[in-house]
Amino acid sequence: MEKFLGQEYITSENKVDINEIWNNAKELIANDKKVTAISYDVWIKTLEPVEIKGNALVLATPSLSSKKYLLKNYKSKIASCLNQAYSSITDVEFVIGTSAEELRDEPEAEETEEESSEITSYSFNPKYTFDSFVVGPSNQFVAAAAKAVAENPGGKFNPLFIYGGVGLGKTHLLHAVGNYVTEHSPKLKVVYVTCEKFMNDVIAAIRDSRKNATAEFRAKYRTTDILIIDDIEFLAGKNSTQTEFFNTFNDLKDANKQIIVSSDRPPKDIPNLEERIRTRLEGGLLADIGIPDIETKIAILSKKAQIEHYNVSRDVIEYIAGADTTNIRTLEGMLSRAVFYAGITNSSIVTLDIAREALKDILVQDESEIDAGRIIESVCKFYNLKKDELLARKRTKEIAQCRQVAMYLISEMLSMPLESVGNIFGKNHATVIYAKNKIAEDMAKNKKFATEVNDIRQMVKGK
Ligand code: ADP
Ligand code: MG
Repeated sequence: MEKFLGQEYITSENKVDINEIWNNAKELIANDKKVTAISYDVWIKTLEPVEIKGNALVLATPSLSSKKYLLKNYKSKIASCLNQAYSSITDVEFVIGTSAEELRDEPEAEETEEESSEITSYSFNPKYTFDSFVVGPSNQFVAAAAKAVAENPGGKFNPLFIYGGVGLGKTHLLHAVGNYVTEHSPKLKVVYVTCEKFMNDVIAAIRDSRKNATAEFRAKYRTTDILIIDDIEFLAGKNSTQTEFFNTFNDLKDANKQIIVSSDRPPKDIPNLEERIRTRLEGGLLADIGIPDIETKIAILSKKAQIEHYNVSRDVIEYIAGADTTNIRTLEGMLSRAVFYAGITNSSIVTLDIAREALKDILVQDESEIDAGRIIESVCKFYNLKKDELLARKRTKEIAQCRQVAMYLISEMLSMPLESVGNIFGKNHATVIYAKNKIAEDMAKNKKFATEVNDIRQMVKGK
């Protein structure tokens, strides 16, 4: 048996069955006397294995708050049971996502020739369709644009650039286009990749010394009728990937093939992006997904309840929709948790009381455990500064950067409005935007600095 299961070993030829490993580990956890049956049902049973990364099994969990809870309370237990189940695995990591399918990249099928023809059909999440996408004032325009492109790829709106904050439905719409085209124009080849996957493919092609490695890469990306790249902001600072993207883009555009990309921000705000790429991305249709109003949040949750056959009273939906987040994924996670609690308390309908009880931890955890004060404290501790120094208006270069890090983290970790972040430091929102971009840019440029910022992030999380 293998003693070492480093990344090198886990390839398509050397597949270990992660479902089996996880099932065995789950059984060990379930039999552990310290883990109550309810905790097991709520926290462990719902996790789904995604992949093996190094010597860790990556598990998908539906929300940031559950991830935090798991890290704090179950990480070592899960890791040790995994290790008992499979000796090469010694650690566990958590990623946020509603389904493991969605999170799993599709490397196996893309690595071998005969499977690559399946690209069009298997990579789209069947749940993410236009029918299941609720349209409201915040996303009306972008939904119409995506539908138009799906009906007439390579037409007027090329490229289509979709941008907006986390959990607002970008990936859903991209998959909806894929599903629509697969159904209505099955002859068209549609490729969907995350920017990260695209980048890995570029790097693999460059590293691969075989002559036809580049040709294979091109065959994959330049012969598509529709190329969809999710989260393109990750191109920031990645030079060779940008070059390859530029060439791919031009080839496809010249041949009237459709390009669709998504990003958390508009092209002009992506740092370290070549000017020629920026202008091309801006040359098609830019469509932003806005923040949903309360009615849209209610409609989305109602639709979700209907699709999943949840028996939920209207006041529960309203209660959840009223939570202080615009991230639909978080809201959906809260709804499933409420439903789950109802299940374990043998209630056939989710009442408001059950929902309150079920969500007590999450709401409290998100709001009370991490706040701006705690982030500022961590930044000061890390850079050995006094809080007054950080908050004062003084502008030595070093302190200014620490302050920007604090603004960046507060805004990223708390999804706080820019205005409010500015208020903490006595600055306006433009200064906060500047700080966020500057830090993102510096992180992309400087690995050491990126590690620093991430270390502080971990500190804030209490790790
Ligand atoms: P993003 O890619 O913008 O971070 P996702 O597309 O992953 O967000 O959306 C997060 C979750 O919210 C998904 O489960 C998605 O189905 C759901 N969602 C977002 N917007 C809508 C909508 N308008 N109607 C229905 N579901 C939505
Ligand atoms: Mg997404």
